[in-house]
Formats: sequence, C-alpha cells, structure tokens
Amino acid sequence: MNKVGAIGWPIEHSLSPAMHNAAFQALGMNDWFYDKIAIPPDIVKLSLRELRDHGYIGLNVTVPHKQAVMPFVKADAIAKAIGAVNTIDFRNNTGTNTDCSGFMDDLVANGIHISGEAVIVLGAGGAARAAVYGLSGVGAKVMIVNRTRQRAEDLIADLQVNASVMTYEEAAALPVALIVNATSVGLEPKIHESLWPEDLPLPKDAVIYDMVYRPARTRLMQMAEGQGSRVVGGLGMLVRQGAAAFKLWTGVEPPVEVMFSALYEKLSSGP
Ligand code: NAP
Repeated sequence: MNKVGAIGWPIEHSLSPAMHNAAFQALGMNDWFYDKIAIPPDIVKLSLRELRDHGYIGLNVTVPHKQAVMPFVKADAIAKAIGAVNTIDFRNNTGTNTDCSGFMDDLVANGIHISGEAVIVLGAGGAARAAVYGLSGVGAKVMIVNRTRQRAEDLIADLQVNASVMTYEEAAALPVALIVNATSVGLEPKIHESLWPEDLPLPKDAVIYDMVYRPARTRLMQMAEGQGSRVVGGLGMLVRQGAAAFKLWTGVEPPVEVMFSALYEKLSSGP
C-alpha cells in the first residue's frame, strides 16, 4: 500500500482525506491511501521519522506544524521564502509549499489575471505570505493591510518583494483588481465577522477572493456581493494545493473535478 496523509493537531476536521481518497478511487489507484494523523507539537521530529520508517511516501502538514517541520526536511526555495512547509516527500526528504501554486492556479481557473494590476492582501500570516509571493511573482502591485503592521513589514522584508503596507482607508481609495482575504476572520464559528470595515465601501470593480472556505460564503463575500462585486471563496485553493501534492507524490494528473465533488459532499454533510 502507498500511504500518504496529513499531520496536524487537531486533525479530525481535515477535508484532505476525503479529497485525496476520492481521487485515488476515481483513478483506480487502489494501492494508494490518504490517512490523517494527529501529532502533538512536542513530538513532531520523532513522528516524522516514525511515519517515514512506516512507509509513508509523503505528508501534508497543517496547523501548528508548518514551521516546526522545516528543520527536518530539505525545504525548497518556495517553502523557504514563505517560511512554511505544507507538503513533504519522504523519498527525497524534501518539503515544499503548495498553497502558493494552489492560490495562483485558482486565480487562473477563475479567469482572474492580475499581472501588472494592483492587489490588496489582507493578512500577513502564512497564507498571506504564499499569496504575496505568488502575486509578486507574476508582476502584481501588492499592498498589504494587516492588524499588526509590523508583521506586514516583516513579510515584505523576508520575501524581498516590492510591496507596500497600507491602512484600509488608504487601500480603499485606490483602483484595485483584486482583494484577497488571507486572514482567519470570517471562519467558522465566527461567521458574522468581517475584517473589512462595514462603513467603508470596497474599491469598485475589485474581485473579492476569500481564502476561508468554511463557510462557503463568508460575511465579507456577502458584503461584497451586496455592493455588486464578484466574489470567489477559498475552496478552489484548497483543491488545487491538494492537487499539486497529489501530482508530486503520484506523478499522476489529479482529477480536480472529483476532488471538488468530494469536498462539496463533505462540507454539505457537516463536520
Ligand atoms: P496565520 O498565520 O495564523 O495568520 C492569521 C492572519 O489573520 C494574521 O494576519 C492575523 O493578523 C489575522 N487575524 C487573525 N484574527 C484577526 C482579527 N480578529 N482581526 C484582524 N486580523 C486577524 O493563519 P494562516 O495560516 O495564514 O491562515 C489564514 C487563513 O487562510 C485561515 O482562515 C486559513 O483557513 C486560510 N487558508 C486557506 C487555504 C485554502 O486552501 N483555502 C490555505 C491556507 C490558509 P495579525 O498578524 O495581526 O495577528
């Protein structure tokens, strides 16, 4: 059996097993299985060795281990730039980060082209780093708004990208093509929260991309739709970051539509 899986703490609500196992099944890859493994923070190093010794081919890494695993794998350039590993291949003990390609691939899939355009990224954590890295790489003019300004400044210095830090009011006054919520605001159970000030109109013509996928329509998305903006939720990014890991481990083109269906089904059936 070819085993892969996700490690996290907690991990029981992970959607990745449903998505990957549906893909294996659809392709008749009956000798592949995707597991979920709860690993407490203090035994990450030991657990990685154990899982490798038990024949796991690779892992997805989620909260709170994305930074913690970095010293124990050969992180590639993208993982180093973002400062987090979300996918490990034990066959060469490498670590990468597929959040960036997942996000960028999803923009393309949604027909959102941002080369040379102004983009606002809300947040300065791991997901924001992945977005800023990808957006800067295709020539977008990135502006970051974050509750903790210093963290946004550190992000720019670490990634060595040409981006700027702004307030909501400064960003709202500019013509932008895209606003990305890369914070956890709006996530279940606090679904009534939106970090964009309710009394501040969103920039006209900007597409609103919310990385949060639980709920499928966040408060921010509802607010943006109310102003006539186009909105995109984070489910596509989730599928496409998983698809990139699937391709890395198996060498097989992932059935993206099957992965989407598995997630819709899982999300509609509740936790
Ligand atoms: P993180 O590293 O913990 O960063 C969290 C960010 O949210 C920080 O910028 C933080 O601001 C901000 N924040 C948190 N609570 C806030 C509040 N009440 N008001 C204003 N800002 C607040 O988390 P992450 O790993 O980057 O993940 C961020 C989000 O992206 C999560 O919702 C996650 O589910 C989502 N995500 C989605 C995908 C996908 O595939 N769709 C992939 C990765 C992540 P401070 O710096 O001021 O603390």
